Amino acid sequence: MITKFIKRILRRDPMVKHTQANNTGAPKRIPKKAHRIDPHLLSKNAVKVTHTLQQAGFEAFIVGGAVRDLALGISPKDFDVATNATPDQVQRLFRKARLIGRRFQIVHVTFFGKGHPEIIEVSTFRALLDNAGDHVAESGRILRDNVWGSQGEDAARRDFTINAMYYDPSSETVLDYHGGMADMQKKTLRMIGDPAKRYREDPVRMLRAVRFAAKTGFELDGATRAPIAKLGKLLNDVPSARLFDEILKLLMSGYSWAAIQGLKDAGLHHGLLPLLDHILDTGADSKGANDFVKLALANTDERIQSGKSVSAGFLFATLLWPDLLKNWKANSAKGMANIPALHDAMDDTIATQSSGMTIQRRFESDMREIWSMQPRFERRVGRYPYRLIESPRFRAGYDFMLLRCATEELNPAIGQWWTDFIATDVTGQDELMASVKNESGSSPSPAKRRRRRKPKAAVPPESAAS
Ligand code: ATP
Ligand code: MG
Repeated sequence: MITKFIKRILRRDPMVKHTQANNTGAPKRIPKKAHRIDPHLLSKNAVKVTHTLQQAGFEAFIVGGAVRDLALGISPKDFDVATNATPDQVQRLFRKARLIGRRFQIVHVTFFGKGHPEIIEVSTFRALLDNAGDHVAESGRILRDNVWGSQGEDAARRDFTINAMYYDPSSETVLDYHGGMADMQKKTLRMIGDPAKRYREDPVRMLRAVRFAAKTGFELDGATRAPIAKLGKLLNDVPSARLFDEILKLLMSGYSWAAIQGLKDAGLHHGLLPLLDHILDTGADSKGANDFVKLALANTDERIQSGKSVSAGFLFATLLWPDLLKNWKANSAKGMANIPALHDAMDDTIATQSSGMTIQRRFESDMREIWSMQPRFERRVGRYPYRLIESPRFRAGYDFMLLRCATEELNPAIGQWWTDFIATDVTGQDELMASVKNESGSSPSPAKRRRRRKPKAAVPPESAAS
């Protein structure tokens, strides 16, 4: 009891270190002419944060993925700062600073500019933990992480050598503790330390390995790759929400198709998302499904690489569509009416997912909306089309429908009809409606003309499929 209490107090004290000795060695100092980081690619706010901390007498560096991306000549999507100031000390230096996290306490410093606010994530150098403490579960998984340490220790705790470089904007020097820059040149993704031990500490690192390999096009170093086949099953112990975040990052990386292939090659896709098992394992009978998902992912990658946004609900709706379609057809074959058959299939499809990584509720409702809109695209008579284009998620449903047409799961003429319908005026719309009438020979209920409103863009206005 008392020892527990003392440990808790010690953990709060930034100056006390009770971990293994610092045997992390001195970093290589890489001057400007050797790393060629373009200062124009730096976030001004990240530089402001490092300067403010340095002026207050602390050490502060841009760290992690941002340095990796800068060294690759890519503009980083976000900036992390590492410092020897404690979270409380950081918070006191900035007006808009918020302490977040419990297991891994960090400070979010927010800057409001012209566009979106920018958040710079500031973390305090973390100490290495030994297995004897109460921070580590029996499996080796790290449970708590607020023990401050030296920069060398902080570097050793990071995952890959290329993610463990520190950049000081003031001197334009990179501090490289683990040969990250050399690995960059060799195009190698190498885990710091003993890979098997590092995967046991945090199995999510296996997914990160696959994601970074897809993103950078680097090869996994042999020793980094080898343990994955055996340890992949440890992902089952990772809390579902964390797994979801990581898979979402992977799908939104701009290299999702390559990353999913990487998961397959590493044997990691099992149990993450049943749909991945389904898509990646089955053969010719799932060709249609495979084509659809491949197209959806290629389309997502293209959007992300060109800086457009992608809605996660839309993405998951596409990934689960083949499964849903199968369930829908099965329900119809059992004699259920079309719409109840679809809704029942949606419940089934979503329920199946819960066996692996649960898709968060906020995306679930988007997915349901997009799916339930699909049969409505086939009702091109009466007032139905006018009602459909007025629904708030029309744009997402329409983009989704176009993907179905592109793989010919839905007659491409229907997609074309809708594309024409939203582009034309009232007379044109009347003609299009008449053409359907002639096509089907049906007599639609009298069309009550409504004032046309522009559809609200639920996903960015460019069509996801065009
Ligand atoms: P991205 O471009 O996806 O943001 P990133 O490398 O910045 O890539 P983050 O998840 O933002 O990834 O993490 C920032 C840094 O924190 C990493 O570069 C790495 O140094 C360290 N890190 C993150 N997750 C882990 C982990 N699971 N194990 C060890 N180090 C990690
Ligand atoms: Mg990052």
